[in-house]
Amino acid sequence: MKNIAVIGAGTMGNGIAHVFAQRGFTVNLIDTSAAQLEKALKTIGTNLDRQIAKGLLTEEDKKGVLQRISPFGAIAEGVAGAELVVEAATENTEIKLNIFRQLDAAAPAGCILASNTSSISISKIAAVTKRPAAVIGLHFMNPVPVMKLIEIINGYATDEAVTRQMVDLAEQLGKTPCVVNDYPGFIANRILMPMINEAIYSLYEGVAGVGEIDTIMKLGMAHPMGPLQLADFIGLDVCLSILRVLHDGFGQPKYAPCPLLVNMVTAGFLGVKSGEGFYTYVAGSKELVVSQRFA
Ligand code: NAD
Repeated sequence: MKNIAVIGAGTMGNGIAHVFAQRGFTVNLIDTSAAQLEKALKTIGTNLDRQIAKGLLTEEDKKGVLQRISPFGAIAEGVAGAELVVEAATENTEIKLNIFRQLDAAAPAGCILASNTSSISISKIAAVTKRPAAVIGLHFMNPVPVMKLIEIINGYATDEAVTRQMVDLAEQLGKTPCVVNDYPGFIANRILMPMINEAIYSLYEGVAGVGEIDTIMKLGMAHPMGPLQLADFIGLDVCLSILRVLHDGFGQPKYAPCPLLVNMVTAGFLGVKSGEGFYTYVAGSKELVVSQRFA
């Protein structure tokens, strides 16, 4: 495998393009938004500079990585020669089903179609294509260049040979693959999201403040980041979408999203990407400041 297409140039898409290009793959990065494509290429450059500063890469390597990534605005052109497509577009079922219908029509026969979805059923996505055996979940973690795990999700119809190929590919990328089956939230988010939701409920009910909740989980459980900070980092809209998938998929009240989370997303307070969530983020500053609304 040499030619990869990545759909969506947001938080995850730029990281996925980065790691493939760093391992020598040619990457077509596709987004409907030209501004997102431009921002993604800038972010990849900045992240490569960080690797150079740590002595992990040279300026020459950086040039090579950037040369191997080409931006595209249209799916049909971007996937023309692809052997694998990794879809990392917005976490919305209709958007993803639409993309996979287009991919099935435009990608070469034999091309594997993967989704980086956090929670949407791989079997459901596969069912809108004529190649469900070649559809699989490749769930990278954020930030992609740093995090070692890829959760690989077998859809109901995924071919075992496709799974084996993706396990080998994950290892080629220097990642650790874990293969799981296709049930709501898979493993990572089925366990993580109820914890984040419970942290938000604790804040909503006034049990403790933002700082206390995060400090207890950081120092008490040795988590590198508290659940509220992590929710901001993931994106509160993404957290809400995943909780809704768990709630709909299992039909159990324990997955009902906290009303505070729903309110924050409705009001556009999405965490790091919008500048404010449980904390306030100022470009260029690493200081963690609790949002005035919760101070
Ligand atoms: P994001 O909002 O940062 O980026 C989504 C991108 O998709 C945007 O640039 C948008 O313009 C683009 N897009 C939307 N519709 C499109 C279309 N039809 N064709 C091409 N591009 C389109 O989202 P993100 O956080 O990068 O999440 C992407 C996927 O990765 C989601 O499925 C999400 O659940 C999953 N994921 C996210 C995280 C995380 O921490 N953010 C972690 C693991 C997996």
